[in-house]
Amino acid sequence: RKKVTKLTTGSSDFDTLLGGGLETQAITEFFGEFGSGKTQIMHQLAVNVQLPKDKGGLEGHAVYIDTENTFRPERIKQMAEALELDPVEVLKKIHVARAFNSNHQILLVDKAMELAKEYPVRLLIVDSLTAHFRAEYVGRGSLAERQQLLNKHMHDLLKFADLNNAVVAVTNQVSSNPGMMFGDPTQPIGGNIVGHTATYRIYLRKSRGNKRIARLIDSPALPDGEVVIKIVKEGIRD
Ligand code: ADP
Ligand code: MG
Repeated sequence: RKKVTKLTTGSSDFDTLLGGGLETQAITEFFGEFGSGKTQIMHQLAVNVQLPKDKGGLEGHAVYIDTENTFRPERIKQMAEALELDPVEVLKKIHVARAFNSNHQILLVDKAMELAKEYPVRLLIVDSLTAHFRAEYVGRGSLAERQQLLNKHMHDLLKFADLNNAVVAVTNQVSSNPGMMFGDPTQPIGGNIVGHTATYRIYLRKSRGNKRIARLIDSPALPDGEVVIKIVKEGIRD
């Protein structure tokens, strides 16, 4: 069994909250409302995974399963240039796969497994984990089926993480709860009824301007806590 290592988020405060960064052989879920920065963080991770180990990277490739057509090569270019990496080379090492529906999304994990035999894939992103499932399995009658498929999907993702000593990062949009103090975001409110099993869960919320608050929730070994991060032209920063 390979040694668990960490991938930097781009923010040293965020890394500290996570005990040094995102862990390999684990699934980290980022959840929050629209615009909370989930996709920005996914882009940043896809760049950072390529960094040398002494800069917080894993010297590897990324597979980016894009379910909402929100992957932007131009954004990768900005982030790469900010790290003095060659954007063309960086983009070559991000294998983007568009998932057309939930079934296709599940199949793409098998494809990623194949790709990882050819390239050193150390990061697998699913942005968004839940959007297709939510759109396709609507109504009470289909909840159990949706849950079962999502569980299988998560199991496949964890297997990918284990076999490749890779980081798996997934996003999950939840609705904000206007008119109420947002008490415990782990409680089933709005769309957050999918109780899937990520190793680490990070709740993102908007703050003033480009600031976002990231909160680590119910971690197995780390204390709960939150940090402020910024989304700037260069990417994710303190
Ligand atoms: P989510 O995926 O959670 O819906 P996003 O990751 O798409 O949210 O975050 C969108 C936010 O990222 C917007 O508030 C936008 O201002 C910010 N953003 C996007 N691109 C840039 C950029 N090039 N420079 C600075 N901020 C950016
Ligand atoms: Mg998004």
